[in-house]
Amino acid sequence: MTHPAPDPFKPRLLVCDVLYTGMGGGHAPGGVVVVGDTVAATGDPAQLRARYPQAQVEEVGGVIAPPPVNAHTHLDMSAYAFQALPYFRWLPEVVIAQREQRGVAGALAGADELARLGVGGVGDIVWSGEVMDALLAREDLRGVLYFEVLGTFAEQADKRFAEVRQRVEAWRKLERPGGPRIGLTPHTPYTVSHHLMRLVAEYAAGEGLPLQIHVAEHPSEPELFATGAGPLWDHRLPAFWPETFAEVIGRAPEPGLTPVRYLDELGVLAAKPTLVHMVNVTPDDIARVARAGCAVVSCPRSNHHLECGTFPWTAYAAAGVEIALGTDSVASGESLDVRDDVAFARGLYPALDPRVLVRAAIKGGGRALGLPTPFIRRGEAWSEDYLWKV
Ligand SMILES: [Zn+2]
Repeated sequence: MTHPAPDPFKPRLLVCDVLYTGMGGGHAPGGVVVVGDTVAATGDPAQLRARYPQAQVEEVGGVIAPPPVNAHTHLDMSAYAFQALPYFRWLPEVVIAQREQRGVAGALAGADELARLGVGGVGDIVWSGEVMDALLAREDLRGVLYFEVLGTFAEQADKRFAEVRQRVEAWRKLERPGGPRIGLTPHTPYTVSHHLMRLVAEYAAGEGLPLQIHVAEHPSEPELFATGAGPLWDHRLPAFWPETFAEVIGRAPEPGLTPVRYLDELGVLAAKPTLVHMVNVTPDDIARVARAGCAVVSCPRSNHHLECGTFPWTAYAAAGVEIALGTDSVASGESLDVRDDVAFARGLYPALDPRVLVRAAIKGGGRALGLPTPFIRRGEAWSEDYLWKV
C-alpha cells in the first residue's frame, strides 16, 4: 500500500503543555502552526484550531520554546563523575578527590555536549588560562566565559589584580563578534579579600565586563559573615587564609551582616554582578538585589544534591528580580541540560506556573548573560529543536 506524499503546504498544529515564544508570558497549553518549515502562528490551541481548521493536529505535549540558556556551569569539570553528597563532604570527596579530571579535555567535552544539546548560551566559570584559551577558540559557544579570581589575603590583592587584568586584556583582543565574551568572577564573597573584590568589581564596571559571583549557596556562608566562625571556617585549609575572617572582609563580622549586605556595602552590587545560588538569603538581601538590578541564577538540582536548601523563587519574583537557571557542574548538577533543571524545578515549586520556569531558562538567562532572546514567531523558520524533550 502506498501513501500519498505529505502535502508540504498543509499546516501542522503542534499542541504542547507549555509554549514560550520569547515574548510575553507564554501559553499553557500552547500551540504553534507550522506551514512547510515556517512558523505561521503561535498562541492558544483552541483559537488556532478555529483559525486553521484544515491543520493537522499533533499533540506533542511537553514544552515548545527557543533554545535555553545555561547561565552557570563549570565546563572544565565535565569529566567528573556526578555524586550527590552534603556540601561539606562533596568538596573533599568529589571536587578535590577528582581534581585530576579538571582541565581542557573536560572543558572541550562539555562544550561539545552543549552544542549537541542545542543550548542557546552559556555562563561558564573558567578556572585556568589553558581552559580559557581552549574555550575562547570555540566558534560554537555563545555567552560569557568568566575568569575565576580567588585570594583571601588583602595585602596580595594589588599584585593578583594586576596579573588578572593583564590576562583579561589579552583575551579580550581575541573576542569575536557572535562568540563568547570575557567576564570575571570573584569566586565568592568569603574567598576573595575585600580589597581584591573591590578592584575586580570597579575594573569590570569601568570596562563593561560581565561579572558573576557565587553567593549564599550554603547556610554556613551567612553564619560566617554573622559570627566569623562556623563550619565553613572550620573546614578551611589554614595555609590559604589569614588569621581571622575579619581580615578577609576588612570589617568585623556581626549579627545581621550577610554576604549580600557585605557586597552591597562594599559597592560591588553597583557593578551589577549576576549572583549565583542565592539560596540562604534574608528579605533584606532580596530587597538589596532588587534595588541594585542584579540578576540571580538558580541551580535547583545542584542545590538539592548538596543539601544547600531551596532557592526562594517566589520571594525574588515578587521583588521583581530577574531569575535565570544554570546546571552548575555535572559533578553536582548531574547533566549540562538546563531543561532538566526546569523539569526538576516543576517538582520543587508545584504552585509555580511552569511558564515562569521556562521563561527563566530563556529570557532570564539571556538577560543575565547579555544575550538577545530568540523568538518563535510568524514568518520565522521552524526548528524541531524547539520541542524540548523534558
Ligand atoms: Zn558554581
